[in-house]
Amino acid sequence: MAAKTPSPTVVGQIDHHPPAKGWMDTKPEFKPGNFLYAAKASALETVGLPNPRDWSPTDDDWKLPADWKGIVREGMAERLQRFRSFKLFMDICVRCGACADKCHFFIGSGDPKNMPVLRAELIRSIYRGEMKTAGKILGKLAGGRKLTEDVIKEWFYYFFQCTECRRCSVFCPYGIDTAEITIIAREIINLLGCNIDWIASPVANCFMTGNHLGLKPHTFKENIEYLLDDIEEYVGVRIEPSFNRKGAEILFVTPSGDVFAEPGIFTLMGYLMLFEHIGLDYTWSTYASEGGNFGFFTSHEMMKRLNAKMYAESKRLGVKWILGGECGHMWRVVHQYMDTLNGPADWLEMPVSPLTGTRFENAASTKMVHITEFTADLIKNNKLKLDPSQNDHIIPTFHDSCNTSRGMGMLEEPRYVLNNVCNNFVDMAPQVTRENTFCCGSGSGLNAGEYLEMRFRGGLPRANAVKRVHEDHGVNMLSCVCAIDRAVFPALMDYWVPGVGVCGLSELVANALVMEGQGEREYNLRGEENPSYKPPAEEEAPAEAGEEGEE
Ligand code: SF4
Ligand code: SF4
Repeated sequence: MAAKTPSPTVVGQIDHHPPAKGWMDTKPEFKPGNFLYAAKASALETVGLPNPRDWSPTDDDWKLPADWKGIVREGMAERLQRFRSFKLFMDICVRCGACADKCHFFIGSGDPKNMPVLRAELIRSIYRGEMKTAGKILGKLAGGRKLTEDVIKEWFYYFFQCTECRRCSVFCPYGIDTAEITIIAREIINLLGCNIDWIASPVANCFMTGNHLGLKPHTFKENIEYLLDDIEEYVGVRIEPSFNRKGAEILFVTPSGDVFAEPGIFTLMGYLMLFEHIGLDYTWSTYASEGGNFGFFTSHEMMKRLNAKMYAESKRLGVKWILGGECGHMWRVVHQYMDTLNGPADWLEMPVSPLTGTRFENAASTKMVHITEFTADLIKNNKLKLDPSQNDHIIPTFHDSCNTSRGMGMLEEPRYVLNNVCNNFVDMAPQVTRENTFCCGSGSGLNAGEYLEMRFRGGLPRANAVKRVHEDHGVNMLSCVCAIDRAVFPALMDYWVPGVGVCGLSELVANALVMEGQGEREYNLRGEENPSYKPPAEEEAPAEAGEEGEE
């Protein structure tokens, strides 16, 4: 059972003093609320991952394979060969400390092993101790140590306490990206069957049924149809999208969180209204029904397997290009890996907006465009009829998702959209936005219920920045373009900054859209009374004979 989370007052008392013993002699303590449950054997079996078994991180015996040391050494050696970045990052850190206070988990927990420099050292010390002559001979003196079961437990604890957000890399003078180190470390412990349930089960579900909740195609379609009913009720417009339609111009793929859970479903209603508004020739797919890629948190190979569905479906349906919804890790994978993993997608064309003629040359290789850049282009070319006053009761700020900001460089487009669909947008400070953004604290598969205390600790720096604009400017809404953000921020805001809601950008766009044939917009997409609704002015009755003005 998940632990009761201590109050913000207790969690906010963070001790940044180093522990009495050296880091090599300090073991992690697996306490309720600060570790993640182990992957279920059935999930590993579904996708053929090694060493499926029942176990818990709190067990003394983790039931590692008999030759586990050999597997780790071989796994490391292979990756040092294959990934130049990993080899470089193992060799070049000068321990300047510039990254030390940049990680949200270090700020929120005070645990020195959450300093990026020390997180990397957890594996670098094994690289030295097991693979470098100086480290093998001199051990600790040369920064090396030997592989033990305690090391594997420590890796599990701390490499699943890194959200692969890359903030530390922005501040490192050498560009060392600890996220890349975490990615490799997770790959290596996966060779031993050490994964977490919140990653392994979604991976298995995505592999078997296409989305992380494992919902079947008809359920996926029906959920969207429920949302069409809601749009008809609140907006007065009936929308009839197509599913799995061959010959559509565009395939639309979004994270399945948008299909099944609040507040993501309101974002999805926004997509539906936008596409209806502009008469887009597009289709949904019940096969490629998950944009998010949980394989990315497991291994490069698993990322490739799960990513393959998008391109396969675009080929089957014969579309020209792919439009993608608001997601973070989906875009990290699309932008940084998709074309080389599963491409080149030479059956697709360079994306061109059918409304504006804009050629998305940034997507020439992947053939996939982000909904926010697509929307910004529509606004720029006056293709949307907007009434931003419909959002006047909302004072939004914007959270840059780590993956869309640092992972793909999408910084100005969301702000451009916000400034056109709202009258009250307030940005947070430059130190905590754009490339400097702070993580939500729950990305890269850490969005588990049993991990709430650590998630709230990791989310503290982001929450603090929101608190500032909430108190100074009355901000009451945190907007974002990532499904994990939409899933985790409601709890984080309730905990640290009560009074701030959470929404996707496309929900705010939809609020402002003036739809053809729409009814009175007395309710928003959430079915709540819309405080910004203005009833139409009553027409003045024509003056009758004998009244004022008549001679
Ligand atoms: S900033 Fe870079 S070089 Fe300096 S300690 Fe951190 S990882 Fe090492
Ligand atoms: S990638 Fe993010 S979570 Fe991981 S060490 Fe760097 S700042 Fe911390």
